[in-house]
Amino acid sequence: MQELEDIGSMASLAAWDEQTYCAVKGREARGQVLATLAAIRHERVVDGAYGEALDELATDGDGLSDDQRAMVRVAKHLHDREARLPADLVRELAEQASRTFRAWLDGRESRDFARYAPELERMLALKVQEADALAYETRYDALLDEYEPGMRTSRLEPILHGLRDELVPFVQRVLERPAPDRSFLDGPFEPEAQLALTRRIVGEVGFDFEAGRQDLSAHPFCSSPSKRDVRLTTRVYDSLEPGALFSSLHEMGHGLYEQGLAARERTAIGRAPSLGLHESQSRFWENQIGRSGPFWQHFLPIAKEAFPAQLGGVDADRFLRAVNRVAADAIRVDADELTYNLHILLRYELERALIDEELAVADLPAAWQAKMEAYLGYTPRDDVEGVMQDIHWSSGGLGYFPTYTLGNLYAAAIGERMRADIEIDEHVAAGDFAPILGWLRERVHSQGFLLPAEDLMQRVTGEPLGHAPFMRYVRAKFGALYGVE
Ligand code: ZN
Repeated sequence: MQELEDIGSMASLAAWDEQTYCAVKGREARGQVLATLAAIRHERVVDGAYGEALDELATDGDGLSDDQRAMVRVAKHLHDREARLPADLVRELAEQASRTFRAWLDGRESRDFARYAPELERMLALKVQEADALAYETRYDALLDEYEPGMRTSRLEPILHGLRDELVPFVQRVLERPAPDRSFLDGPFEPEAQLALTRRIVGEVGFDFEAGRQDLSAHPFCSSPSKRDVRLTTRVYDSLEPGALFSSLHEMGHGLYEQGLAARERTAIGRAPSLGLHESQSRFWENQIGRSGPFWQHFLPIAKEAFPAQLGGVDADRFLRAVNRVAADAIRVDADELTYNLHILLRYELERALIDEELAVADLPAAWQAKMEAYLGYTPRDDVEGVMQDIHWSSGGLGYFPTYTLGNLYAAAIGERMRADIEIDEHVAAGDFAPILGWLRERVHSQGFLLPAEDLMQRVTGEPLGHAPFMRYVRAKFGALYGVE
């Protein structure tokens, strides 16, 4: 188990370096290193003797501690899953991923879906094979389970549709209101000063820079070669939003979670139980804390010191409205907190139809457009703004998108529960984040993968997963900001 974790650690370090400091000409060789590490790891995970040992421990676990029992459960789940996949298929999937990725880049460059479609079709055919080999109750379940262990379509879909039915009319009413002025966020804001301000805020909130760092990359991410060496990345433009600050608050949320797993380092349960739960932490810090009034009551004076010309005449209320502007726009990664889940819903519905072979790749652009119009009232100008905007499908990441919405739902439930325990707003306005981080550390971070995500959340919040806390949260927040009931 520790050796598997060590291999994963080096793969994560090599991948981080590939996206930050690796020389452009060295990237191809780095790709080969990563493929070799993945093959070694896979060989070990599916090893027969290892599987037998896990079986034995799972059936006769006398003398194991609770932690050890959980480690066996997690390791066995992974072994059983990967052992069902033929080695040829695993290799074909990896090779197809790089072909589809190149076709995706080409399709974007030429703004021509037809150049991407044939490779996407081949990828999809392999994903169908993968799902069938994994043999879950439905194909989508098989893919979803990789990212959200234990979650099933039969449980997920009613939650997503319940959310959709309440969210779509609420978003429409918000969009009917006048949009707040956000022009001052365009700056220009000097990049070095943005990075210094970002680092100061991230450090004050509680990210331990002696157990981590922050660097630049094309797309922000968080990876952790060790729970005591957690690496955030960001990117910086002339604008404040989009810019380094809010994307860093997001990645910081992931990073705080990783640092909070330190006691379980090098074990199979030294990880979040699901991507959705991991995303709950980034969303909580970015949106519920980072885009709140009390947060800017505390940090706006500090931001003004860094940018007196740009922010001097902006009060906390105007700032808050600007960074919470709701808009029906094309691009998911730039979407606001309110419309974001509608972007996810659309992707979930399309990818599920694709994997069930109810929707052909050739019909994807039209289906995308129809759903954008139905959910957001927006018509994409072309397929770059539409179906070709995300990298996920090109690399075989089907079943991934719902984890973003699950993250938002978990974050809302966590926030509601935390508010019953501690005075979040008072602490945040005073710049005192320790009680909030401490609450998360004790109940969520330090638990690692002792329990599946939904069980852990049930214990933390006292409620089953649902969309109600999220709707209560956005109705209160955006209702007040936009004057909508
Ligand atoms: Zn995230």
